[in-house]
Amino acid sequence: VFSNVPGAPEDVVFALTSSYKADKDPKKVNLGVGAYRTEEGKPWVLPVVKKADYILVNDDNLDHEYLPILGLESFREASVKLILGANSRAIAEGRAGSAQCISGTGAVFTGAQFLSRHYSVKGASCYISRPTWVNHRAIFEGVGIPVKEYPYWNPETKGLDLTGMLAAMDSAPSGSIFLIHPCAHNPTGVDPTPDQWRQIADVMERRGHFTFFDCAYQGFASGSLDKDAFSVRYFVERGLEMFVAQSFSKNFGLYSERAGNLTIVAKSPTVKNRIESQIAKAQRAVISNPPAYGSRLVSLVLNDEKLYGEWEKNLSTMANRIIDMRQVLFDELTRLGTPGKWNHIVDQIGMFSFTGLKQPQVKVLKEKYHVYLTDNGRISMAGLNSKNVKYFAAAVDDVVRN
Ligand code: PLP
Repeated sequence: VFSNVPGAPEDVVFALTSSYKADKDPKKVNLGVGAYRTEEGKPWVLPVVKKADYILVNDDNLDHEYLPILGLESFREASVKLILGANSRAIAEGRAGSAQCISGTGAVFTGAQFLSRHYSVKGASCYISRPTWVNHRAIFEGVGIPVKEYPYWNPETKGLDLTGMLAAMDSAPSGSIFLIHPCAHNPTGVDPTPDQWRQIADVMERRGHFTFFDCAYQGFASGSLDKDAFSVRYFVERGLEMFVAQSFSKNFGLYSERAGNLTIVAKSPTVKNRIESQIAKAQRAVISNPPAYGSRLVSLVLNDEKLYGEWEKNLSTMANRIIDMRQVLFDELTRLGTPGKWNHIVDQIGMFSFTGLKQPQVKVLKEKYHVYLTDNGRISMAGLNSKNVKYFAAAVDDVVRN
């Protein structure tokens, strides 16, 4: 019965990690996967997460009963507060809702599935940035929403194509869905400035578009949770309705625990309640109810002042190490006199840098230097450390010159 099933291509990032693991060269460098690594190149269990782990393991009152369909209440409330800000008018007015989901991916899926069934503008397309995280297209197309792109990256300036982005928003049919990265854009590392966010909000509001923020890196971009939430909070201030997918994979280092949340900002408490009820109905048929462990850890930290303060310090450690690596890489390329301008390495923020390296250069990096990165030239800055950054810079210098 399955003989006609065609094989599907392997996921590029996961395939890259497999090739890296199979590579026996001691100089190999993995800049593919977007996961934090320490100066020693190792995964990092955040010290605050270790503390929360200890508290959970020693809590005799915890059991393994099902969570409610929409997840752990204390986790959901804290997640909403984290992204919207404790003083958000949407929270005060009782129109901010939530659903715990299977991490950031599940939150994007849950929101997309809801829109495919209940969005009032029939046949509306979802516009995703060009380029974006590969799963955006797959998720929206998977639930039957047509996907279009808006310009984002300007290869000339290696920065934001604001003009192209605003023009696309202006000309899209009114009521379109726009998937927007609120901070630490993946893959480019290029974010709008506060003034540019104002211009974006103007068009979104004027054209009646729906904002779907995908927030996978709060606290990771600048090290400040509030600064990284600026765009979301600003859109709320402007009175816009929205969904915000939140991932705790990167900012808590909880990649495999699948802790995520979909924050909903609706026009009124009644509408918010109805949206939550539909999401609960849909979620029941997909996962029944979300997993508890990761959300318990996050909830413990977000709801305890002392642990929260420690978490902020852990976030700064990660963000600052990445910022330092940007500087070291830039300095080294400058020292080598590598042809081209490299200031975008230090201007971009968050986990990734979009180097501007072309596919044939990426191929040489992989085959000759055992450096693994995606074909679009994106590097995960967290994969660099003081032991491999000079080796990487020399390899880049070689592929750019030859
Ligand atoms: N959205 C973006 C833009 C991402 O970069 C990622 C992870 O790389 C995710 C969502 C989802 O991450 P997860 O499902 O691991 O929380």
